[in-house]
Amino acid sequence: MSETLDLLQDLVVSEINHVEVVQQVLQVVADRKMFYYDKLLPLLFNLRGKPLTLKNHFPMRSLFARVLPEQVTYKTGRQISKSASNATHSVIMGAATPYYNILHVTPLFEMIRKFSANYVAPLIEESALREMFVSPRCNKSVLQRSLRNGSNLFFTFAFNDCIRVRGNTANAIKYDEYQNLDASFEPIINQTVAASGAGIDFSDEAALSEANAPCIMRFGTPLTFENGLEQAWETSSQAEWAIQCEKCRKINIPTLREDLEKMLGPRERIEKVTPQTPGIVCAKCGHYLYTRNGRWKHAFPERRQSHVGYHIPQCIMPFHCESDQGWTTLQQYRFNRNKASVAEFYNEICGESYDHGAKLISVTDIRHVAVLPPREDFETHLDVIRSGRYVDWGMGIDWGGGGINGISKTAFAFAGLRGDGVIEVFSGFRSQTPNNFNLEANRARDIAYSYKCRFIAMDFHGPGNRLRWDKLLETGVPKSMTMPISYTRVGNGAVSRLVPEDRKERIPAHHQLNKARSFLTISQLIRSGRIRFFQYDYKNKEFPGLLNDFTSLAEDRVKLKQAGEIYTIIHVPAIGPDDFADAVNYVICGLFTRVGRWPDTGSIMTIADLTPEQQAAIDPKYRDENLDWFLKDD
Ligand SMILES: [Zn+2]
Repeated sequence: MSETLDLLQDLVVSEINHVEVVQQVLQVVADRKMFYYDKLLPLLFNLRGKPLTLKNHFPMRSLFARVLPEQVTYKTGRQISKSASNATHSVIMGAATPYYNILHVTPLFEMIRKFSANYVAPLIEESALREMFVSPRCNKSVLQRSLRNGSNLFFTFAFNDCIRVRGNTANAIKYDEYQNLDASFEPIINQTVAASGAGIDFSDEAALSEANAPCIMRFGTPLTFENGLEQAWETSSQAEWAIQCEKCRKINIPTLREDLEKMLGPRERIEKVTPQTPGIVCAKCGHYLYTRNGRWKHAFPERRQSHVGYHIPQCIMPFHCESDQGWTTLQQYRFNRNKASVAEFYNEICGESYDHGAKLISVTDIRHVAVLPPREDFETHLDVIRSGRYVDWGMGIDWGGGGINGISKTAFAFAGLRGDGVIEVFSGFRSQTPNNFNLEANRARDIAYSYKCRFIAMDFHGPGNRLRWDKLLETGVPKSMTMPISYTRVGNGAVSRLVPEDRKERIPAHHQLNKARSFLTISQLIRSGRIRFFQYDYKNKEFPGLLNDFTSLAEDRVKLKQAGEIYTIIHVPAIGPDDFADAVNYVICGLFTRVGRWPDTGSIMTIADLTPEQQAAIDPKYRDENLDWFLKDD
């Protein structure tokens, strides 16, 4: 291939507009002869008088791959050259493939007008492909650009409805500013993708099918976890730009859940930011990181063939991390010096979704520690227990049925504590019958006995769950084996504490578990590999498995008028249920309580506890049924 390239480059030196050269270059693209054809771009395009290259835009190279999968999602910060790259890709694809129609969709007319007029038009006017577009018969309006080879670039918008989109047929659809699009329009708009291109006569059938494979591409800057862009990202291969440190060899992953915050380095720089001394640094040793050495690392490599997803934060782009001015602007956003909100920093600079706070535990965190056999391997679990691997083991239950968002399910988790302090969550399941209290109590007893569990830790929050506890005792489970646990967000700083029996109120002795502190402890133990799980069990949106529950937890920082900033953990229902995460929290609370101590997690202790009033102010669901419960405390 490089021979062809050399040949082309030789040819092109003097005569960039030579029609034959252009035809040869386009044929290389059409024949899918190169894995990436970004190297051909300078032969075809000029931008502001200079040949267009991806030298400083290399993360966008993924767009110029030989074959793209059915779906492509770019979740990016602002100003990462996405519109320019997107426009370039459309023009070259249209020019290289006869009768190839690309439909560009944005939420607003003004957005699509800008894209067509400010990106696509100058690209064509200054390119060697100009001749292919400029023909008296060709349409060159803002909303359509036709090529001589029968291809078309369509531009449209869908805000309150998608009526005007439906008339088109396309081989590919590209959504820009996808985060602002009404997600319910997408299935309708996607119907315009025609799987076959009638009337095309290619001798190479493979090339034909590849060239005309329908493709849905999304570009956007994230907003919240509920947003359609995040939902699309969740089902993608989730690639991050991994950069290895030249000094300590650590592979830095620029996402907030991993290394991004530390990679942004100190607030004040001593050295000027240059390509040799870039802004980004190693999260582990602080040495300079060279983004040009990075490569894509997919969290779900098996999805690359169907839906590839790329996350592009600003800091990996050279014009941000290698430029003193670019880096200063980025740090101003970070430290709120230009009145940017935290959300703006997350969304527009980091290219990350943001609700109130960041995700507590990422998919990557969980997958790193999902190293045990599958949760269904009952015989293996029994062998492990019999072998004496655990000094203590038990079961955690989060009872379903009474959630404020309708009916939730009951989740069961099983975990053992090893002699070296590592906790293994070896099994779990979710019950489908949360309203049949007797059936669930019997099932809980049976499986606890079959695993020879030493204890059963369970949700004891509110009257409904107290009834569940009674039902379990009725099945013959001894009271001494049960450990009722009630969540609290207020308290005296301890992760967990024992509340003695209240005979007057007829509330038995139980443990109070501080939800924010316990989940923070668990997230630290997961990230340090001291809590491990059964095999990762996410299949798809319909069968999300159990471990995915952890990714629905987010940190929440709320500013109150008088109390300053407070910290808590919230559940983001759009991502999925959290009942299994709660069941795990209960069984781990049981293990730590029985062994007599919680692990020392110093940083957690610096978080101020909430007063009941603060709690009620930020979390209305606790105001309804549980505030009385809190107010009894302390
Ligand atoms: Zn390092």
